[in-house]
Amino acid sequence: MKPTAFEFRRASTVEEAVEQLVELGDDAKLLAGGQSLIAMMNFRLVRPSALVDINGISDLQYLEPDGEGLKIGALTPHRWVELMEDPDILEGFSVLKRAARWVGHYPIRTRGTFGGSIAHADPSAEWCMLALLLDAEIVAVGPAGERVIPASDFFHGFFMTDLQPDEMLLEVRFPRPTAHAALQEFSRRAGDFAIVAAAVALDIRDGACDSARVVLGGVADVPLRIEQAEKVLEGADVEPEVFREAGREAAKAIDPPSDVHGSAEYRRDLAAVLVERALREAAGNDG
Ligand SMILES: Cc1cc2nc3c(=O)[nH]c(=O)nc-3n(C[C@H](O)[C@H](O)[C@H](O)COP(=O)(O)OP(=O)(O)OC[C@H]3O[C@@H](n4cnc5c(N)ncnc54)[C@H](O)[C@@H]3O)c2cc1C
Repeated sequence: MKPTAFEFRRASTVEEAVEQLVELGDDAKLLAGGQSLIAMMNFRLVRPSALVDINGISDLQYLEPDGEGLKIGALTPHRWVELMEDPDILEGFSVLKRAARWVGHYPIRTRGTFGGSIAHADPSAEWCMLALLLDAEIVAVGPAGERVIPASDFFHGFFMTDLQPDEMLLEVRFPRPTAHAALQEFSRRAGDFAIVAAAVALDIRDGACDSARVVLGGVADVPLRIEQAEKVLEGADVEPEVFREAGREAAKAIDPPSDVHGSAEYRRDLAAVLVERALREAAGNDG
């Protein structure tokens, strides 16, 4: 199928992009890598009246240290994250690099952008899950200026975010490095979105878990923090039985949907296995 007719514009600066969004009204959309938007337009799941191509804004492609944190420009391709080598940005954020291989296929990773994935807000998207896991902040700009949105407030529902129609996502900031973090997921075919994905972060001291974060994707219409599993881990020794118990608690805590990809029961089983697997990987990782 072909998309419905739309007006096509280009913006070469952030200011131009926002001006055009304001001028074109609520039915206009920004075009970044096009790896989700164009597919949805071809299926006529979305019918924007206009597209504003922002690929000409070259200064939004970067991965840079930000104090002890990391900031990623909205137009940074997934592939750049996969290829991160610089120890200044890798240390404490290697979970992003390790997770990048799960994002679609190679051509999707070369065209698709970090900001596009966050703005698209698929509940099993790796970057959305890691943004929630690692307390990221999302920087957006609109006609009223810039604002910073905590990831915990950003995702409102399936493909729905806090962004207003005339706002553009500029940057994602990860404030703190995390020595022990991992993402595990399952899909039937390599490159597909995960049926269920689990992301975890542990703060380990003297063989015990000081604090823990557990996030599941694919089990609700937003990436979900699972506090019941975190409670099992906090203060407990870092050992396999504790990880298994955290997985079991995560499975009990969710009410996942059933669809063509798997039943709710199947998703619960996957959640238990993937949380345990991610915890084992995280405990073994250092940076
Ligand atoms: C076969 C296939 C498999 C895939 N598998 C995965 C996967 O496993 N994991 C995964 O995470 N993704 C997957 N994707 C999606 C891919 O990661 C996309 O690149 C991503 O979802 C959107 O990024 P984009 O740059 O392509 O954005 P686009 O498709 O251009 O835009 C997506 C949406 O975000 C908006 N948008 C884009 N940039 C901005 C911005 N800076 N500010 C405000 N709004 C913006 C657009 O207006 C649009 O509504 C897959 C895609 C395909 C086709």
